[in-house]
Amino acid sequence: TPVIGVLALQGDVREHLIALASADALARPVRRPEELAEVDGLVIPGGESTTMSKLAVLFGMMEPLRERVRAGMPVYGTCAGMIMLAEKILDPRSGQETLGGIDMIVRRNAFGRQNESFEASVEVAGIDGGPVEGVFIRAPWVESVGAEAEVIAEHGGHIVAVRQRNVLATSFHPELTGDHRVHALFVDMVRAVK
Ligand code: GLN
Repeated sequence: TPVIGVLALQGDVREHLIALASADALARPVRRPEELAEVDGLVIPGGESTTMSKLAVLFGMMEPLRERVRAGMPVYGTCAGMIMLAEKILDPRSGQETLGGIDMIVRRNAFGRQNESFEASVEVAGIDGGPVEGVFIRAPWVESVGAEAEVIAEHGGHIVAVRQRNVLATSFHPELTGDHRVHALFVDMVRAVK
């Protein structure tokens, strides 16, 4: 059984732990480099990407995270987590850093403000059984991707899910629904490299 961490500096950690457990992974929170060293894969939750970036620096996690991603550890980021996995942010706040991992440019808060949050059915390539219900909360979208990155979902003409080798990102939150197919896809990615 793969051991999958959820980066627990900030954001909706608990919901991801539950979703991973129901997708047959051993899920645990990760805050320190020693804990990161023990997991086969990692989820970066939704939350607020500027805060998450600053806490990652403060906890000495930025470099260890970059190293593991570069070394091929599977990572899945939702919303703020997607922003953390982008090579470039279109409109970064000062001091905001990313880990990189997917050759893409993201636009923060692209779908509007908190009160413009919405749900939509999203068809995701590689996920069978019909569209997933996407929860978009101050969600980013992806402006453009490089040649290595594979667009796996769009909504309203905008890219909302991308995969590049070991790295998966969605601008929506499957962990907030009872449908854990995206987490199951990620657990399969972790099994494949383990
Ligand atoms: N807008 C947030 C950010 O920029 C992300 C929101 C979310 O994760 N639901 O980090």
